[in-house]
Amino acid sequence: MSLTEKEDVRCSDDNTYGLVTGEVKNILTIDVEDWFHTNDFNIRKEDWSSYESRIRRNTEKVLEILDEYDVKATFFVLGGVAESEPGVIRSIIEAGHEIGSHGSYHEMADRMEPKLFREDVRRSCRSIEDITGVKVIEFRAPSWSIGPGNIWALEVLEEEGIKVDSSFQPFKTFLSGNSKLPMHPFHPVIEGRRLGLIEFPSTVIGFLGLRMPFSGGAYLRMLPESFIIWAFRMVTRKRPGMIYVHPWELDTEQPHIESEFPFNISHYKNLDTTERKMRRLLKEFDFHSLSVAVQNDGFPDIVVKAQYP
Ligand SMILES: [Zn+2]
Repeated sequence: MSLTEKEDVRCSDDNTYGLVTGEVKNILTIDVEDWFHTNDFNIRKEDWSSYESRIRRNTEKVLEILDEYDVKATFFVLGGVAESEPGVIRSIIEAGHEIGSHGSYHEMADRMEPKLFREDVRRSCRSIEDITGVKVIEFRAPSWSIGPGNIWALEVLEEEGIKVDSSFQPFKTFLSGNSKLPMHPFHPVIEGRRLGLIEFPSTVIGFLGLRMPFSGGAYLRMLPESFIIWAFRMVTRKRPGMIYVHPWELDTEQPHIESEFPFNISHYKNLDTTERKMRRLLKEFDFHSLSVAVQNDGFPDIVVKAQYP
């Protein structure tokens, strides 16, 4: 199915994209970064060694929970983690999960020139592939930092062999996102050229023309469990939904450091609820890795533009 310019991205939540096989496959993704790697604190990679690494124990905890529910997920790993903690990558692979890249050092893609972004992607993939021996074909930009302002990044990713990108955030936040972006998986069409790459945006629920995030990070921690379950059930009646969790979000004992509003609140808020909500989702829904969920494709072509009114 090919959409014209006129139809482009103004999609309603009633679309049933991804239902070609009659079955919606939900996705679980884990963004593997340490508590101090996030853009909440803006700590330069040169200073990372000054902070306590908790990535190994926190990732092991996630792996134990997934093993309990017999779920295989996609882990988007920082190249920097692959370099400093190769054992973490081995544990993920040995547990049968899939590994994608989350960039090298959690630098926002929309703050990089194309050349630098390509180098960052290449380096992260190489660091991961050196351990796994498997070509990396999935990518998530740090803090969902691909959108209309850096659409070229999708072309770079395709040229670097990425088959599925999950870096669009279809709502606006302090850091990134755009509320005109599609809410469902699609093949981007950029200046008339259709990419083979599938873009899988973060999952939001839409109603009355509004969009509400709930499917991961601070939103998942702050919103009530009953709302998250309800919203995920509503969304996944029509299209595949995706949950995302960071290993540090299960770590209630991580160090507290200062940061600016709103990150001083959002980073630490309700960390003690993550495991409970994650377990409830795993109990209520079936989850798959990203590549399993998109294997039948059937996603529409959608024109993406560098500017939206
Ligand atoms: Zn991240």
